[in-house]
Amino acid sequence: MTSPISPVGAHVPVAGGLATGGLKYAAEIGAEAVQVFVSNPRGWALPEGRPAEDAKLRDGAIPVYVHAPYLVNLGSPTPETLDKSLAAVRHSLTRGRAIGARGVVVHTGSAVTRTYDEAMAQVREHVLPLLDEIPEDGPDLLLEPMAGQNNMLCAKVQDLAPFFERLDHHPKLGVCFDTCHAFAAGHDLAAPGGAKDTLDALVAAVGEGRLKLVHANDSKDACASAKDRHENIGAGQIGEPPFADLFRHPATAGVPFIIETPGRAPAPHAEDIKTLKRLRDTP
Ligand SMILES: [Zn+2]
Repeated sequence: MTSPISPVGAHVPVAGGLATGGLKYAAEIGAEAVQVFVSNPRGWALPEGRPAEDAKLRDGAIPVYVHAPYLVNLGSPTPETLDKSLAAVRHSLTRGRAIGARGVVVHTGSAVTRTYDEAMAQVREHVLPLLDEIPEDGPDLLLEPMAGQNNMLCAKVQDLAPFFERLDHHPKLGVCFDTCHAFAAGHDLAAPGGAKDTLDALVAAVGEGRLKLVHANDSKDACASAKDRHENIGAGQIGEPPFADLFRHPATAGVPFIIETPGRAPAPHAEDIKTLKRLRDTP
């Protein structure tokens, strides 16, 4: 029995339109899946979509994911930030459904000045209704653990377990595993067996079938640095071999790998995609 192949794709810029700009960039770099922002990632504005562009993405052949804005913090002690965060995630989910996205990635957030338990109680109170609102054909909400700085609610993959418990293991809940974040949080993917051990721990924390997306990024900084600085595949401190191991783990069967690596022109991204495809396809 052969496992389903993981598409290799990228976060793509969408200047010129979500589909027109995004899919053109994807074609230039050889991406088999895309992730997009549906609003300014560093702002709170919630723009409407353009129906023709939405339809093109929805009817296109490649898997689509949305990344919610960076400002979102569902653990925030500031009521205004919480309200804006919930509105932004709702917007990403609604827009995601319109473009046929399979998942909306949201950072797991920070307690900032509060206790962990206070922040997690808030997550339960506000995110559970949001999950219930998602129609059956809507995207999953994918929790992305962070690098571990600033009172983060979730950095190690084991930290996902209390999230899933507080959110009642909702059927619309999934995980986006970012290799750079995990490495920064102290998962030594570069050590022998490190990638396998980390994914084993992830599956143990949330159960099988919850890993829906991998953010494949190398890391400029050392393991356990708590620094979130992405590097091109093979050029950082993770190196190429752990990515080959990730492709071979049963938890990633059919799960898209999306790069969020540095570089503006298509060149470095095309190279990263080529590298990942080689690591995926070399027996
Ligand atoms: Zn990421």
